[in-house]
Amino acid sequence: MAADVFDVAVVGGGPAGLSAALSLARARRRVIVFDAGDPRNGVAEHMHGVLGHDGMPPTALLERGRGEVQRHGGIVVEGRVGRVRVGPAGIDVDGPSGTVRARRLIVSTGLRDELPEIAGLREQWGRGVVVCPYCDGWERRNDTIGVIATGPKGIDQAHQLRQWSDTIVYFPNDVGEPGAGALRTLEGRGIRVERGRVRAVRSNEGRVGAVQLDDRSVQVESIFTATTLHPRDRLLRELGARTIDDADGSWVEVDADGRTSVEHVWAVGNVVDRRSNVSVSLGAGSLIAGAVNADLTAEDIARSVRRDLER
Ligand SMILES: Cc1cc2nc3c(=O)[nH]c(=O)nc-3n(C[C@H](O)[C@H](O)[C@H](O)COP(=O)(O)OP(=O)(O)OC[C@H]3O[C@@H](n4cnc5c(N)ncnc54)[C@H](O)[C@@H]3O)c2cc1C
Repeated sequence: MAADVFDVAVVGGGPAGLSAALSLARARRRVIVFDAGDPRNGVAEHMHGVLGHDGMPPTALLERGRGEVQRHGGIVVEGRVGRVRVGPAGIDVDGPSGTVRARRLIVSTGLRDELPEIAGLREQWGRGVVVCPYCDGWERRNDTIGVIATGPKGIDQAHQLRQWSDTIVYFPNDVGEPGAGALRTLEGRGIRVERGRVRAVRSNEGRVGAVQLDDRSVQVESIFTATTLHPRDRLLRELGARTIDDADGSWVEVDADGRTSVEHVWAVGNVVDRRSNVSVSLGAGSLIAGAVNADLTAEDIARSVRRDLER
């Protein structure tokens, strides 16, 4: 293999990609990471539930991670990868300043959250309007929490949040009236139901203040909702990676080691796993790195055997 061929190209320098890159760089593999600089939790000021880093700004974790990769000889390139091609001589990755070739590709490009179309909601996204109780519930404990439903799971979310606050207000919005059984469970746990179309999220001095319905305004201090998830998996789909469908849409399929159906191409983090929070992404990145390194080692052995036979 030519000297300018990287062992591994990682597309996406969030927690998943950087964790994989760090382990591979520490295994003395030649690693290059491309990152467009738009991590999913980039809107949040602080990151929670990550052992040893609770409350750290997400950008600070990634900055530290990039430094650690570089300190072990990895290369980190800022910019978007437009295209990848898999061929017999390796994988060509079109980065911001040209094409590099690698023996293996890890795609860790994350996912995009599509927010409910409600006026004033986007402005509070990642601060007063959040999605994950384990990430942000503690900080909102005892708030008057509004749960704006975007689907039938909104009721489950309201019940879940009852763990963090006694004052939960459930807004069925367009999802419609809860069934009689669901209504009983909500009422039984003291969860108030505010019916009607949600028109806007109102803020007061930068903080969430109320949910505006057609005919009234309901005071809340923070809002949880659910987003529509769009994995950023275009590069994988263009390579023809096999997909599977579940209740949340269509996802590129990976095995337990993160291997896709495309030879030499791996994927990790939110791009293939909606449950992958920061801790899971860090762990999955480390796991996949071991599998990719083992795969490269097997190829190294096969090549040396071939060289021996040719002598
Ligand atoms: C508002 C909010 C708050 C959250 N808070 C928490 C929290 O407190 N704790 C927690 O554990 N989890 C939290 N999460 C979840 C967390 O954001 C994800 O678990 C985590 O970001 C997933 O990591 P990842 O590496 O898979 O993807 P990401 O972090 O999204 O990183 C993907 C990277 O790939 C880059 N990329 C995409 N396409 C390309 C391309 N073509 N070329 C080059 N680069 C590309 C992107 O720019 C991005 O930098 C939160 C999520 C949201 C929405």
